[in-house]
Amino acid sequence: MKTPAARPKKSSAAEVAPMPAAVPGLAETPAQTALRLRVRKELEPFGDPYWRALDDKRAYPEAYAKAFAKNRLLAALIPEEYGGLGLPLSDAALIVEEVNQMGGNAGTAHAQMYIMGTLLRHGSPEQKQKWLPQIASGKLRLQAFGVTEPKAGSDTTKIETQAVRKGGHYVVNGEKRWISRIQYSELMLLLARTSPPRPDDRTFGLSTFLVDLRKAKDAIDIRPIKVWMNNFTNALTIRDLKIPAENLVGEEGRGFRYIIDGWNAERILIAAECVGDGRWFVEHGAAYAKQRVVFGRPLGQNQGVQFPLARSHMMVEAADLMRRQASALFDAGTKCGAEANMAKLLASEASWQAGNACMDTYGGNGFAAEHDVERKMRETRLYQTAPINNNLVMSYIAQHVLGLPRSF
Ligand SMILES: Cc1cc2nc3c(=O)[nH]c(=O)nc-3n(C[C@H](O)[C@H](O)[C@H](O)COP(=O)(O)OP(=O)(O)OC[C@H]3O[C@@H](n4cnc5c(N)ncnc54)[C@H](O)[C@@H]3O)c2cc1C
Repeated sequence: MKTPAARPKKSSAAEVAPMPAAVPGLAETPAQTALRLRVRKELEPFGDPYWRALDDKRAYPEAYAKAFAKNRLLAALIPEEYGGLGLPLSDAALIVEEVNQMGGNAGTAHAQMYIMGTLLRHGSPEQKQKWLPQIASGKLRLQAFGVTEPKAGSDTTKIETQAVRKGGHYVVNGEKRWISRIQYSELMLLLARTSPPRPDDRTFGLSTFLVDLRKAKDAIDIRPIKVWMNNFTNALTIRDLKIPAENLVGEEGRGFRYIIDGWNAERILIAAECVGDGRWFVEHGAAYAKQRVVFGRPLGQNQGVQFPLARSHMMVEAADLMRRQASALFDAGTKCGAEANMAKLLASEASWQAGNACMDTYGGNGFAAEHDVERKMRETRLYQTAPINNNLVMSYIAQHVLGLPRSF
């Protein structure tokens, strides 16, 4: 009779391969290694069993979100003057990477990190003073990003939700789709049309607002969309939502630019999460291949089992280098659109490939929820499609790096 294979031992910080010191500027610093260890220690209760149980019940990671907020990891990018950790993006990326490598899903963390970036870069001093300390302390959750619409899809400039100025307020009406975690959020960053686009600038006419959801729920009908992983995403109908004019972020009509401005950070964080997922798959696949014995020898003695795992390791680590390059450029204030996009595509594909290799290694056990492989695959697959699909990433590289004509 076959005995079920034991679960691979939990990955530990010691197994995280250090970056080669020969890559100037890309090697992990001692402070970053300390940050990794801190994340591992503080989030120790949030390994595979925690996420598996949530996945089973389709429940929100409440305890994880609280712990993340309590130890200010959620406020990693908020400057110290507002109560945050004031870390660069390279460090924030390590935090979300660790969460995923520990078996988790850093979605709630990355959302707050990048949504908050729009407020940080384009908000008025009064808005920052009002909101950032509350977000940094965990008192207020900024988890919802209201951009995508049913008709517009990837073409954000075509969104139709209208915000009309009436005295001291904007009144908003429209439909949104795929708005994640709004039921667990107190603040939402909303993109809506305030005027028609200009013939010479199709991005003009969209504006960005901070919506205090505690006062807005009556005006927003929320319909959860069941998806194949544990994600709290929704369709919204917004009817006569009143937003105080003081909650307009930046200049009216320029909101699309502010949203784009956050995209590089978002892509870098997503890439880091995929690297974390990819390492989880490689580590678990290799551990399982060492201990599972079939035909009188460990699975991992067969090259047919070794090679996909070895290839996956190479792909994940190569994607990680691109992610590091992108974050280093971002933190230096240098253009990084190409690198951020490349990192996102490479990492999301590498993690999916690593998932497949891990699934093949586990054989039938890969399909059993108790081994977490199928859950991690469902989670990591999202990042080839959202927040931006990889076809649009390739279009970006074709147009902006290779100089090919714009295709859409
Ligand atoms: C679980 C989940 C959570 C999400 N959370 C949020 C959120 O919190 N807030 C938010 O605003 N949005 C959110 N989104 C939306 C997400 O950003 C969009 O799904 C994504 O941008 C793609 O848009 P779409 O689904 O309408 O695809 P479409 O635009 O309909 O495109 C479908 C497919 O067609 C292809 N395609 C489209 N255009 C082109 C082109 N020009 N060239 C080549 N191929 C193309 C791509 O492969 C694409 O995947 C979420 C989505 C999901 C699935």
